Amino acid sequence: MPEIPELQHISQVLTARLAGRPITNVDIQKPIVIRLPREDFEAGLLGAEILAVRRSGKFLLLETDRDSVMAVNPMLNGRFQWIDGPDGKRKAHARTCFTLKFQSDEGELGIRYIDERYLGKVYLVDAEDLDQVPVLNEQGPDALDPALDEDAFLTRLKRYRGQVKNALVNARFIAGIGNAYSDEILFQAGIHPFTKISSLDQERRIRLYAAMHETLNWAAGISAVEIGNRIDRKPRDFLNVHRKGGQPCPRCDHTISEVSPNRRVTSFCRTCQPD
Ligand SMILES: [Zn+2]
Repeated sequence: MPEIPELQHISQVLTARLAGRPITNVDIQKPIVIRLPREDFEAGLLGAEILAVRRSGKFLLLETDRDSVMAVNPMLNGRFQWIDGPDGKRKAHARTCFTLKFQSDEGELGIRYIDERYLGKVYLVDAEDLDQVPVLNEQGPDALDPALDEDAFLTRLKRYRGQVKNALVNARFIAGIGNAYSDEILFQAGIHPFTKISSLDQERRIRLYAAMHETLNWAAGISAVEIGNRIDRKPRDFLNVHRKGGQPCPRCDHTISEVSPNRRVTSFCRTCQPD
């Protein structure tokens, strides 16, 4: 699933290419992902201009000049793709849910929303009703929200029990971190993923906060370069431990461990992240 480092860049690319361009066509192929009547979705978007695309946690928020917002919860697989690739038109994608076309100086600019499992959810709401969008309205602060300073983070952490990895992927605690980057943040912090929060001393809690920023910002820079204009990509090869089970740890050379409790892959180094 896309997480902050990818979504950060994708929202910037979408803003750069779509802002100020009127929507000339709305074509819905899989109404199931659109959480409102299709007529309302079409009428709400046709002729509207996207002002900017923001990210909040794992949501993409496309703000329009009609004081409305298209809120996209991509879940596991949802993603946008330009219809025109670097070498001309891409062939149709069987799992396209809807396409939008925009008026542009170079003719029409098209984007499609793809989801292999149709698990993603797309809303179109008045801007003032954004707090009624399911899941979005229950989210804690975005992990990179400037208001989430070290004190705010430590205060929130006190309210959580259980294992530290479970808290990091819990959007109600902090939004925008999923399975991949929780592993990376814990590696950076030197904390075993199954450590109970109650057993983390103050020093390690502070290190966790710093590692969250360091990891997300480091990965955002690399993701931006690797993704470029190919906004459907999710580069993860450069990660240190996530899904690198059996390979040597880049820090200590011991073998990276990989376990899958609850069918969720967790990768970590037992030497750098002692229990
Ligand atoms: Zn190691």
